Amino acid sequence: MLLIRNAHELMEAFRPLDLRLFELPDEATYPLLVRDYRAWLETGGARIYLVYEDPDTHKPRGLIFRRPNARGAGGVSHMCNWCHSYGGPDEIGLLLAEESARRRVGVVVCRDLGCRERVEEAGDLAGRDTAEAKRRVVERMARFANEALGLDTAHAG
Ligand SMILES: [Zn+2]
Repeated sequence: MLLIRNAHELMEAFRPLDLRLFELPDEATYPLLVRDYRAWLETGGARIYLVYEDPDTHKPRGLIFRRPNARGAGGVSHMCNWCHSYGGPDEIGLLLAEESARRRVGVVVCRDLGCRERVEEAGDLAGRDTAEAKRRVVERMARFANEALGLDTAHAG
């Protein structure tokens, strides 16, 4: 569990590339408690912000995703790559992160990043403990960031 005390600490978790898109959350949100991860929508909902606890460094890492409009995606159901739940195109779809100023990388996940809630709900229904499943969700987020966005190398210098 992480505690982010102020805007400065929050912004440090994000890549410089993402900071030019940054909309700071309300002052009243601090201290920001990050249990597994935390996600919130930008005003207007065009982007979603994600802060998770990196499984290796135990430091906060932040990503910003664009949310393409879900309409026109048809009635096909998709599976979230992070929590493995299923849903219609309004619930699960493509989110896009910038790998560089010119290249975006997409991942099909819960559009509201409500993976933890879905994992908990599924666990409650099955009478299972969900700590392990939630840990795996964060691991998959970190893997996406490290492999698809090269966050490892970006932070190495
Ligand atoms: Zn999910």
